[in-house]
Amino acid sequence: MPQKYAAGNWKMNGLVTDLTEVLEIDKGVADLACQTVICLPATLIYAADGDPRQTVEIGGQYCHPAASGAHTGDISAEMLAEAGASYVITGHSERRTDHGETDADVRAQTEAAWRAGLVAILCIGETLDQREAGETLSVLMSQIDGSLPEGATAENTILAYEPVWAIGTGKVATPDQVAEVHDALREKLGPEMSLLYGGSVKAANAAELFALTNVDGALVGGASLKAADFVPIAKALS
Ligand code: 13P
Repeated sequence: MPQKYAAGNWKMNGLVTDLTEVLEIDKGVADLACQTVICLPATLIYAADGDPRQTVEIGGQYCHPAASGAHTGDISAEMLAEAGASYVITGHSERRTDHGETDADVRAQTEAAWRAGLVAILCIGETLDQREAGETLSVLMSQIDGSLPEGATAENTILAYEPVWAIGTGKVATPDQVAEVHDALREKLGPEMSLLYGGSVKAANAAELFALTNVDGALVGGASLKAADFVPIAKALS
């Protein structure tokens, strides 16, 4: 059985004072069977690592392929790991769009994550134009072929399906749309890899998504910033 995950992505949000929310989340998920991961801005990871957390694991949101070097403003997987991260998001559509990251870049980042001992949360997703053109599954499979390195296992990689049109828009994919994609991902990636859905997940829509056979959890953006919003999502999973 794949591990179930309630994962949060804080994106470019949060100052040190907001880490109280991580501690609240930690209390709220203490007895749940799912694994909770909060992917923080890099500036907060070291501070969060000093907090007395019991169950929540910390992740980063991006890593450069190299371990170190002349890459001003970048951060390596080794740096994230040393600061206290155990996970890192690779291939988020905001990185693909804002920074022009290609499948080949995402593959190299994912290999870097493994090299540093991090679990990669690799994101794929189609745009609205691609969905309306009937290209959803072919786009997703080609993203996997291009960005998932050889050697991916259920231990080193989590796959997150995030339709670009559902991110931050309040438009959640329907259960039928999610089921079609996740069933195809299960077929391609095998029985053990955790498959997360992301895109406008909230407490109000989480339960119907988690009821789908091949949905093993969620990667949550906006609703992960406050424990009061996020803990009910994690509870819907357990
Ligand atoms: P929202 O939950 O804010 O739509 O963001 C989803 C996401 O991009 C998580 O990585």
